[in-house]
Amino acid sequence: MSRGEQIYEGKAKIVYAGEDPDTLVLHFKDDTSAFDGEKVEQLASKGKVNNQFNAFIMEHLQAAGVPTHFLHLINDTDSLVRRLDMIPVECVVRNRAAGSLSRRLGVEEGLILEPPVFEFFLKNDALHDPMINTSHILSFGWATEDEIHAMRRWSLRINMLLTALFAAADLILVDFKLEFGRYEGELFLGDEFSPDGCRLWDAKTLEKMDKDRFRRNLGGVVEAYVEVARRLGVPLS
Ligand code: C5P
Repeated sequence: MSRGEQIYEGKAKIVYAGEDPDTLVLHFKDDTSAFDGEKVEQLASKGKVNNQFNAFIMEHLQAAGVPTHFLHLINDTDSLVRRLDMIPVECVVRNRAAGSLSRRLGVEEGLILEPPVFEFFLKNDALHDPMINTSHILSFGWATEDEIHAMRRWSLRINMLLTALFAAADLILVDFKLEFGRYEGELFLGDEFSPDGCRLWDAKTLEKMDKDRFRRNLGGVVEAYVEVARRLGVPLS
């Protein structure tokens, strides 16, 4: 399985054409970024851990009936995925207040949100990923009404599946971000699911086990990701 031409380089991944034009190769980098790319560091083995972590989560979701772009692992750092027409919107689900929600609404980190909060953000670094609503998505033509409903429905379903998966590993799924795209007229989950794009706290100590360790200079970033993977039973090479 060889990589074709480079199509796009993001902050944490490089996307290459696959051999089949309907596919892409995702290469997970060790680069770790925060604050819209203002803070960037290389963390040894992070790409490898996130690639294998993402494969485990995507396969878990697929087994539960969630359509995802994931096809298979290629090697330690690369995965083959279906080529989607990406919707330029980020879907965030929150089970507890943290991060930008705490700042925006002045609520204490850790407050339980019942029902979970669902938010849309525009995927645009230059504008710092502003929060948007369904009216913006429709008026600017980023997605249809049916796609908006499907993104919300799948995000909340994924939240139920992953909250249970992480709870069984003594972890609280605080919040996470998803991205979706279209393939042959259907909506599929795209991008990745890894501790780079979610918040996970130890259920007993509430210790942070995700990218907040990097954002807050707590150290032990990849070590925490590896511990989460170990608890879930993710096979790491
Ligand atoms: O920063 P904020 O609190 O809005 O982030 C909510 C969740 O979405 C966090 O888990 C964060 O890691 C994730 N996120 C992301 N990529 C972004 C924005 C948020 O992975 N561009």
